[in-house]
Amino acid sequence: MERRLLMLSTARDLSALTRVSPHPAKPRHVTREVVVGTVAIGGNNPIRVQSMTTTDTFDAAATVAQIKRLEQAGCELVRVTVPKPEDASALSEIRKQIGIPLICDIHFDYKMALMALDHPVDKIRINPGNIGGYDRFRQVIRKAKDRGLPMRIGVNAGSLERELVEKYGFPCPPAMVESAIRYIEIAESEGYHDMIVSLKSSDVPTVVEAYRLYASYCDYPTHIGVTEAGKPPYAVTKSAAGLAPILLDGIGDTIRISLLGDPVPEIAAAFDILQATQRRVMKPELIACPTCGRLAIDLEKIIAELEQRIGGRKTPVKVSVLGCVVNGPGEAREADIGIAPGNGTSVIFRNGEIVRHVVEAEMVDALIEEIDLWEKMHPEGRKEPAHASDGRKRLPVLV
Ligand code: SF4
Repeated sequence: MERRLLMLSTARDLSALTRVSPHPAKPRHVTREVVVGTVAIGGNNPIRVQSMTTTDTFDAAATVAQIKRLEQAGCELVRVTVPKPEDASALSEIRKQIGIPLICDIHFDYKMALMALDHPVDKIRINPGNIGGYDRFRQVIRKAKDRGLPMRIGVNAGSLERELVEKYGFPCPPAMVESAIRYIEIAESEGYHDMIVSLKSSDVPTVVEAYRLYASYCDYPTHIGVTEAGKPPYAVTKSAAGLAPILLDGIGDTIRISLLGDPVPEIAAAFDILQATQRRVMKPELIACPTCGRLAIDLEKIIAELEQRIGGRKTPVKVSVLGCVVNGPGEAREADIGIAPGNGTSVIFRNGEIVRHVVEAEMVDALIEEIDLWEKMHPEGRKEPAHASDGRKRLPVLV
């Protein structure tokens, strides 16, 4: 078996590899722009981060307090559930006190959707599979259209129409996409186009394939997420596992990480996934190795200090600090700023060129000076394309 594999591998013609683009980033799924309050979604806009409150919406004070904490963390849109008339009644007070667009979330009762739309919300999210049929959906569409408000059509694998589940055998990606397209077509027949679509499931392969399939049919922006991901830290890993393939395929215009408990940590998790997939770079990217027996410097201490000193900076600069000469020089050359540790003295690279030599005690100060210099040289952020003419791969120009 081993011999056969070896023969197969050596017999392959690898010349085709030279015809493949060396740059791995795929372009974004081309979507329409939909405006939610003050925030534009889709098109060339950054992928927006949103969350949902866990308070009783009718408790306006508690809901506003939680939204303020979400805003502080960087949340750009917030959703509140509206299951009862008293929740709808609190929307006005909540809207008055917050600075980000407010989305009302409706399940089951189309009358609650109509009622919520009487209040100053910026968008409505409904689950078409449980809203009570096409006629009721049309009524909600007409009212959203009259009010000039956008809507998220939130298809969920757990609440698909029964006939679609029967048709496909189980709540699979084609069933979810057919459901979304049905409701999109109904909305379009009403002359309504302000739609954002989500196709959520708690099953990672289902989520990935549902969004891929949807993107091959439609150009309405997508809100992406792995629903009911559970409790952190596993929920963050599960969300990253599901959302990374979608984002790397260029799909996704808004994102939510669903975590059990306080929603505030959802925001940092969402921004980290966007940063790691290079779909929205909002802070320096630190490259550090896991260390091993070859370690030549106290890497954990250096990275901890560096993280603490660059915390809060939004510079899209790539900084590489590795533990020894094995990969250190190569990574340092590819980064914007990098350190290649040597015996006693380490070498600092800037844009692939050696610029100075430092001892371990000087490393963090030297790196901070280099980051300061990089910021001065790029006052409006990065200007170069992600794939510069010298072949070095850079962080994309995104905020
Ligand atoms: Fe080990 Fe060096 Fe690799 Fe770090 S860079 S993991 S220290 S071999």
